Amino acid sequence: MKRYGHPGLLKHTKIPNEGKPLCPPLTRASTFEYPDRESHNRAIDGSDRFYARNGHEIGRLVEARLAELEGAEGAVLFSSGMAAITAVILGLSKSGSRIGVSHYSYGGTLALCKEVLPGLGVQVDFFDPFDDADIDRMLASGPHLVQAETPINPTLRLLDIESLAARAHQAGALLSVDATFIPPPFQRCLAKGADLVLHSATKFFGGHSDVLAGVVMGRDAELTRLEDWRRMTGPILGQDAAWLLNRSLETHELRFREQCARAHDLAVHLDQHRERLGITALHYPGLAGHPDHELAMRSLHNFGSMLSLEFAGGLDQAGRVFDALGLFHRGPSLGGVESLICLPAEASHAMLSEAELRRIGFGPGLLRISVGIEPIDDLIQDLEQAIEATDR
Ligand code: PLP
Repeated sequence: MKRYGHPGLLKHTKIPNEGKPLCPPLTRASTFEYPDRESHNRAIDGSDRFYARNGHEIGRLVEARLAELEGAEGAVLFSSGMAAITAVILGLSKSGSRIGVSHYSYGGTLALCKEVLPGLGVQVDFFDPFDDADIDRMLASGPHLVQAETPINPTLRLLDIESLAARAHQAGALLSVDATFIPPPFQRCLAKGADLVLHSATKFFGGHSDVLAGVVMGRDAELTRLEDWRRMTGPILGQDAAWLLNRSLETHELRFREQCARAHDLAVHLDQHRERLGITALHYPGLAGHPDHELAMRSLHNFGSMLSLEFAGGLDQAGRVFDALGLFHRGPSLGGVESLICLPAEASHAMLSEAELRRIGFGPGLLRISVGIEPIDDLIQDLEQAIEATDR
C-alpha cells in the first residue's frame, strides 16, 4: 500500500549524493504547488505532497518506523495520545454502537467515555479485566470494540492480552490496547492477538518531554478508517513534532533499556530496604511479589521504567517525600530521560474517591515514579534522603 514507505531518507526529496544529510529534511509547508492542472490533479488523490492535513512525508516515515517496531501492517500518527484514543473509539463507532472499556484505564480515556460518548449515542460498558464473570457480562452485551490498558497506571498490573483477545474475538469484538507504559519492541500486543495497539507517543517514543503525539498501529483495514477519520476531523501530528519524534526514535531502544535497568535497580534496592524505609507497598512487575510477575516474565521483554510506592504514613508522608526530593522532577507524564514523580490521587486519578482508588488497587498516598537516565546511585540517594527527612 502506498501509505507505508520504507524508513530512510524520503524518496521524493531531491538529495544530492555528495553532502547528503544524515537526517531527513523538514518542510513546514502546509501546501504544495504544481506546474499544471494535470500534475495538480494527480496529486489530489493521496499524495503526501499536496495538503499536510491529509498526510506528509515526515509523518509517513515515522509511521513506517513505528509499525516496524510493533510488527504491524501500519501506523497512523495523531496530535496526542488522546487524539489517538478518540480516533479509535469514535472513528470506529457510530450512534448506537456499544463498547467495553476497562475500569483500569487512563483518566483521559475514562473522562472521554463518561462525559463525551453518552451524548453521541455510544454506549459504554465499563468492566473489570481481572474478573472473568465481568468480562463475560460485558461481552454478552455485544460490544464491537473492547478498549483496555496494560501495564496499568499506577499499579503496573498487567492484562493477559492473549486471553482477552481470544474472548473478545469469540464475541465478535475488536480488542484495542493502550500499551503506552511499555512500548514495542519490549511489548508487542498485536502479536498477542490485539487488533489495534495505541500509544501516547508523548511518553517513551518522544522520550524528552518536548513532543505531544499519539499513534495507533494495526491492520490496514482499520487503519484506513482511522486515517479517513484523521483527515476529516483534523488531528494529524504536525511536521515539526513528527521530525522530533523521528529523531527520538534513533535512541528509543537504547533509552528504554537504560531507563528499565535503572528502574529495576531502584525497585530492588527499595524492596531490600522496605522495612527501614517504611514502604508498605511497592508496585513493580519485575519483583517476585508483584501479582502479575509471572505474566510479566512470559509476555514482556522488559519490566518497564515505572514503579510506584506507598508508605505507612499514607498521603501525608507521601506528600512530604514528594516535597523533599531534590533530583526527581515533580510533574505529570512519564517516559522522558528525566526522572519524574507524581501523586496520582491528586492528579491523573483526582476524580476518584478513596474507596474507588482502593478498588483499583492503591491508596491515596501512592507515589508514582518514571525513571529517567540519571545515575542510579544519585536516584537512590535522593529518594532515601527524602524518605528519611520525613521520618523526623
Ligand atoms: N494513555 C496513557 C496510558 C497515558 O498515560 C496518557 C497520558 O498520560 C495518555 C494515554 C494520553 O496521552 P497524551 O497526553 O499524549 O494525550
